Amino acid sequence: MVGNVPIGGDSPITVQSMTNAPAGDLEKTLKQALELQNASCDIVRVGFPSIESTAIIPNLKKELSIPIVADIHFNPKIALRAIELGIDKLRINPGNIGKPEDIKAIAKEAKARRIPIRIGVNSGSLPEDLEKLYPNNIPMALREGALRHVRILEDTGFDDIVIATKSASVIETIEAYRLISGATDYPLHLGVTEAGTLQTGAIRSSVALGILLADGIGDTIRISLCADPIEEIRAGIEILRSLGLRKGGVRVIACPTCARMGIDVQKIANEVEMRVMGIKKEMTVAIMGCVVNGPGEAKHADIGIAGSGDGKGILFVKGEKNRIINENEMISVLIMEIENLLSILA
Ligand code: SF4
Repeated sequence: MVGNVPIGGDSPITVQSMTNAPAGDLEKTLKQALELQNASCDIVRVGFPSIESTAIIPNLKKELSIPIVADIHFNPKIALRAIELGIDKLRINPGNIGKPEDIKAIAKEAKARRIPIRIGVNSGSLPEDLEKLYPNNIPMALREGALRHVRILEDTGFDDIVIATKSASVIETIEAYRLISGATDYPLHLGVTEAGTLQTGAIRSSVALGILLADGIGDTIRISLCADPIEEIRAGIEILRSLGLRKGGVRVIACPTCARMGIDVQKIANEVEMRVMGIKKEMTVAIMGCVVNGPGEAKHADIGIAGSGDGKGILFVKGEKNRIINENEMISVLIMEIENLLSILA
């Protein structure tokens, strides 16, 4: 359990992200974490590079309903302080956090408070000896590195563990997780590390995680993007939905656009998709550019719009033609109709 959220076994696969507001800045970190929470993020990770930066933990805990993971490196005292301040989970690297007695102290306090620890290695932080041992087999080195960390914690009597073996390469990530999943029953945190910018990162992550999740490997995911953290949640949820691993939410259908397009489909679809991310009820919204395929798709959706030319479009609600609306009011009308439908479904 990470706070009130289960990871592993038959629990639903969770989607995580990480704030990137300046360390220790309560206002900015909280704002970002709340935005992630509202976008259906299940677990939020925050980096704490200093003891001082952990001072915001109690306030974050007070304001957020989702659990918080403290990402800590090099200094065991920061981990101990984060535990003391009520953090829900730790992400540490036992290889860089200190001496065996430091790890033991962290494990003891975490165990006493039932705080899980996520460990593991990524392709950029492999120990030198493993790189030498497996010069042409990064996945094997990642597996061994992760198991080494597991043993360090197990030797202290700690087994509330989540493992990650991320690589910046899609192929290596897939292979490393296959290997570690065959070697242990601990829950796995999936991700492609340093995946890249919004589009390339989302594609690389989708390929790697899609293959692993379809094979039943993985318990929690983070899509690491060089982008607004909200985009990580957007991508993560969509990957799970695509595989039928997450139910509910608003599915936005949009036509690919062509010369017939009578409204700005891209802008409307993107804006609507961002604004409905936090909705849990299942619903389909179609945004179509013209009357060729538009009315058909729009009728099949719960709510739909088909551009009719001249900056106007036909609104469909539950398969029925509702009214003609202007392009400049389409986003607000769609949101209003979605809310109306939600109140009926509630
Ligand atoms: Fe083109 Fe219309 Fe099809 Fe959109 S719905 S791709 S605008 S034909």
